Amino acid sequence: MAGRHIVILGPPGSGKGTQAVRIAHELGLEHLSTGDVLRRAVANKTPLGEKAGGFMKQGLLVPDEVMLGIIQEELDRLGDAGWILDGFPRTLAQAEALDGQLEERAVKIDTVLLIEVDPDEIVARLTARRICPSCNMVYNLATISTREPGMCDKCGEKLVSRPDDDEETIRRRLDVYDEQTKPVIDFYRQRGGLVAVKGAGGIDEITAEIFRLMK
Ligand code: AMP
Repeated sequence: MAGRHIVILGPPGSGKGTQAVRIAHELGLEHLSTGDVLRRAVANKTPLGEKAGGFMKQGLLVPDEVMLGIIQEELDRLGDAGWILDGFPRTLAQAEALDGQLEERAVKIDTVLLIEVDPDEIVARLTARRICPSCNMVYNLATISTREPGMCDKCGEKLVSRPDDDEETIRRRLDVYDEQTKPVIDFYRQRGGLVAVKGAGGIDEITAEIFRLMK
């Protein structure tokens, strides 16, 4: 099934990044996380990072025109490869612009996946989330234990909290999701082909459910 084009949507903390990595691996797709692209830019203090860092720290969206530049560049870089987009589009304007960019490339989105999780569960999950600053692997103190406490299993780096994973910022990100990203869900739902999965339960069960529904 290589060459597929998938968009994964869901609130912050729904596990969409974790599932996107698994889907990409299983289907031989490139995983494009705009959050990872931005965090790398911030870490490397690039002009993009300087522009985006303040918005990210506050839990706000980076402006559409910045995001559209990134997505165009990334789609060019990926060329003919199949991909899963994780964290994009997050506004209606981004969804419409993505349509235009895909039309130019004669590419169609095959599946839009939505992972649904309750807001209270999200706050609990994100305050326990830790990431590896080196390889971006995501852990959760409550559910995923590491071999060495507090260290990444893959590269041995010390795990950190994301600067936007404190409770106040999480709540702001959830408000932003309701106001700006929910219209994107309706946009794809009306078009047909949206596949919704409940994001509660174990990671393996959710992955299995995703593959069952995508068949
Ligand atoms: P994520 O890792 O997907 O939770 O993204 C982290 C942060 O990066 C978000 O809270 C936004 O500040 C920013 N970001 C990532 N993707 C987008 C996007 N498509 N549009 C606007 N901001 C974004």
